Amino acid sequence: MLEVKGLVTAYGPIEVLHGIDLTVNEGEIVTLVGANGAGKTTLMRCISGVQPVRAGSIRFEDADLTRAPDHARAGLGIAHSPEGRQIFGDLEVEENLRLGAYHRTDDITADLQEVYELFPILRDKCLQPAGSLSGGQQQMLAIGRAIMGKPKLMLLDEPSMGLAPVLVDQILEVITTLRDRGVTLLVVEQNAFAALSIADRGYVMETGKITLSGRARDLIADPRVREAYLGA
Ligand code: ATP
Repeated sequence: MLEVKGLVTAYGPIEVLHGIDLTVNEGEIVTLVGANGAGKTTLMRCISGVQPVRAGSIRFEDADLTRAPDHARAGLGIAHSPEGRQIFGDLEVEENLRLGAYHRTDDITADLQEVYELFPILRDKCLQPAGSLSGGQQQMLAIGRAIMGKPKLMLLDEPSMGLAPVLVDQILEVITTLRDRGVTLLVVEQNAFAALSIADRGYVMETGKITLSGRARDLIADPRVREAYLGA
């Protein structure tokens, strides 16, 4: 479904991704793990089109997205829930959710209900300014807004960041529910064990390169991964 090949990008003169190869097949949950600064967020930003690509290619289904603008990618079925959430604090919760569907012309009522079913707290607070939500609730809102795009592929950057353990479990459950409903997911997580335990496959990134990849269960068992990322 998604094929990234030889991807290179830079911030000004500083190259931060040095030739990334990664694929995501339809129906999979794929997890990307790696230390701070490895380039995970930058890779997600390249796939969603907010970070320009210097070399290499990004294909999604039959389309070459390498130089496509970000709104074109939303139209093709890619939604990005960015690190740091980037919700609109002055707008109501429901207004934020509706913004996730900005490129759609069909009826979004059922999708709004789906988000409220997955995250009932958002229904309770639907008329409140999004800025008044707790950190965990804002994280749910960012994921809910991505769901409103009715994506085929969701890019989730640190969905469990800063959340209490009970909320982490809730988010992981939502991710598997979305997969069961036919969404494909690429997930960046600091919480490597939790993310790999719900994933089909995983990639490990170090300083702008993929250093390991494979089935999630094999990565969890790999001594290099256990030592570096799973605290073993
Ligand atoms: P984190 O988990 O801390 O977000 P990451 O693996 O997502 O880490 P990136 O945020 O993609 O890593 O950062 C990769 C490299 O690019 C780092 O060296 C970082 O300092 C640098 N970088 C990130 N954003 C910018 C920017 N806007 N301008 C310049 N350098 C940047």
